[in-house]
Amino acid sequence: MRTIDHWIDGRVTAGSSTQTSAVFNPASGMQQAQVLLGTAGDVDAAVAAAALAFPEWSQASISRRTKVLFAFRELVNARAAELAELITDEHGKVLSDALGEVQRGLEVVEFACGIAEQLKGAYSEQVSADVDSFSYREPLGVVAGITPFNFPAMVPMWMFPIAIATGNTFILKPSERDPSVSLVIARLWSEAGLPDGVFNVVQGDAATVDAILDHPGIAAVSFVGSTPIARHIHERATASGKRVQALGGAKNHAVVLPDADLAFAANHLTAAAFGSAGERCMAISVAVAVGSAADGLLELLQQQATDITVGPGRESGVDMGPVVTAAAKERIIGLIDSAERQGADIRVDGRAVEVEGCSEGFFVGPTVIDQVTPAMDVYGAEVFGPVLAVLRVESLEQAIQVINANPYGNGTAVFTNSGAAARAFVRGVHVGMIGVNVPVPVPMAYHSFGGWKDSLMGEHHMHGPDGVRFYTRAKVVTSRWPQDALNASFDMPTAR
Ligand code: NAD
Repeated sequence: MRTIDHWIDGRVTAGSSTQTSAVFNPASGMQQAQVLLGTAGDVDAAVAAAALAFPEWSQASISRRTKVLFAFRELVNARAAELAELITDEHGKVLSDALGEVQRGLEVVEFACGIAEQLKGAYSEQVSADVDSFSYREPLGVVAGITPFNFPAMVPMWMFPIAIATGNTFILKPSERDPSVSLVIARLWSEAGLPDGVFNVVQGDAATVDAILDHPGIAAVSFVGSTPIARHIHERATASGKRVQALGGAKNHAVVLPDADLAFAANHLTAAAFGSAGERCMAISVAVAVGSAADGLLELLQQQATDITVGPGRESGVDMGPVVTAAAKERIIGLIDSAERQGADIRVDGRAVEVEGCSEGFFVGPTVIDQVTPAMDVYGAEVFGPVLAVLRVESLEQAIQVINANPYGNGTAVFTNSGAAARAFVRGVHVGMIGVNVPVPVPMAYHSFGGWKDSLMGEHHMHGPDGVRFYTRAKVVTSRWPQDALNASFDMPTAR
């Protein structure tokens, strides 16, 4: 059985780990590897390596750091197909989607290649007689990233390019479900010329995470995952004095107004609900059909969901792969069962999907459920699978009320041809990322990514300008080069 190790101080190591967790191929349902579960001692070793590397890396010139980033960008680009195959084999998503994930991660690397622009400080001349003032930002030290299974390349790349470009050293704790990509990334950093110890990977599970949260040598923690764990991360890491950004789960609604182009809306909703088997934090899991839009929309959604080809992500012609684990499959089917029991109308049923040659695979077919109400379990839970719930309401105002009553606030979208309705929607919803006729409004790398309410704990969104602020702290310098002897004053300094 292949063992997936840690990467500490520029080399692969088993550290002091003895426990492992199984890594499956979700399409076959078979175990294909085992990943080490890092101990507190392994976390300690990674922090020691990262702390040792910090003085040199943080003092390296901006041009030396960006040279490494440019080289890393070229290497990831050249190896994108290999990374995508690893993602498909461990996560299950189709290859083209896995390649798209690598591309979206690369965009953050490209943003970080231009870090010089972001690190420019501000300078004010002559703030008082013969006194100048300037401000700039410095790195924090050793920082850590804890990431979810659903984007094993992209989500870590939301974090470490900016952390490293701004002069920090980094420890990644990837998901134990699809850990292999992290080691390829570590090798690419090394090939790109990153000094040993600047980028480290400690594999593991909850116990490894808690060792990171408690470690006094780590200055900041970035987390992406489910809301209960995000809350735990935020509470425990802030209690030990760390800066924390913890992105949680989601329940993303797309509102379809009667004036929308229904074919366009159904097409995009189908892709947004079932792409990556619905295992995206920005997947649309609820369609809110307003008034007369409902019947026509349902008909189109039903048709399109039925046309989706389900199969192994490596096979060409497949639109949707399996979900990540047997437990995820069971949970998703349980939620569809509950919707049926609670009186919803299952218009397309993916529970009994069969994929030829993959009888043990973790497949759930596309599922469309009509007549869902906010009281049903399938609405209350984050399904995180290929299930689209349809809620019917009478007006845009009611649709906005439904969205704002939901505890999550990650993404949302409206389909309409009315500028006034779109504007009212954008201004009315309590959500961090909004699409107008764009169902998955994931911001580009030079904007920041983040939700509101239970979808984010902490003050900073991820990547873009917020990423730079998160991984740095400000210094403001007030300086004078005296030419004459001046009298010091006991009063609060004021401008002269
Ligand atoms: P998860 O919360 O189970 O795991 C995330 C990370 O936390 C993993 O590295 C895991 O090892 C660790 N972890 C798990 N249980 C822990 C515990 N008890 N204590 C400490 N650490 C623990 O999430 P997942 O199932 O890997 O990913 C899916 C979730 O991530 C969904 O809820 C999805 O919405 C969310 N997500 C959110 C965003 C976003 O941007 N808001 C992006 C991607 C995924």
